[in-house]
Amino acid sequence: KETVDINLPTLVQEVLALYTLRLGVRFKVDYDETGLLIIKGDPISMRQVLHNLIKNALEAIDGSGQIDIIVHRVQKNSTDFIEIGLYDDGPGIKDEQLETIFEPYVTSKAKGTGLGLAIVKKIIEQHGGAIWIDTTRDIGVGFIIQLPASNFEI
Ligand code: ADP
Ligand code: MG
Repeated sequence: KETVDINLPTLVQEVLALYTLRLGVRFKVDYDETGLLIIKGDPISMRQVLHNLIKNALEAIDGSGQIDIIVHRVQKNSTDFIEIGLYDDGPGIKDEQLETIFEPYVTSKAKGTGLGLAIVKKIIEQHGGAIWIDTTRDIGVGFIIQLPASNFEI
């Protein structure tokens, strides 16, 4: 697969442009304007990640609610990562469901495939990253994706 520098705020805007006509749904994007929010990866796969998570968020809020996407740069053990937080204000996920939702064929939906999050996890791991659920939230669901930042010479 193609590996290029991906500017995440640009990618987020491109994907959101396909959804913003939904009445009743508010999208808020917030990113650190000062940092380089660039990763190395396959843009088609990363677009798929955003689509799958946004689709789940839209299904969770079921017609009205808010979806927030936050992109920022963090440093852990002197390595730079880009974190994407994707939050909705839907009904949330039950604690007992948290352990299995990234497994294939796990779905709570009548017509769900249960593949969306399994694909997301696989793509993120192929990019050297990790995804987890932000359990500090008491409203809706928050997913946090952490990916190695692209460090290039200027
Ligand atoms: P599917 O959407 O086909 O059910 P996914 O792998 O995308 O499969 O999601 C698995 C399950 O995780 C969903 O059926 C749902 O129960 C839960 N889930 C995922 N995202 C959310 C969310 N934003 N809010 C609430 N539950 C969610
Ligand atoms: Mg899904």
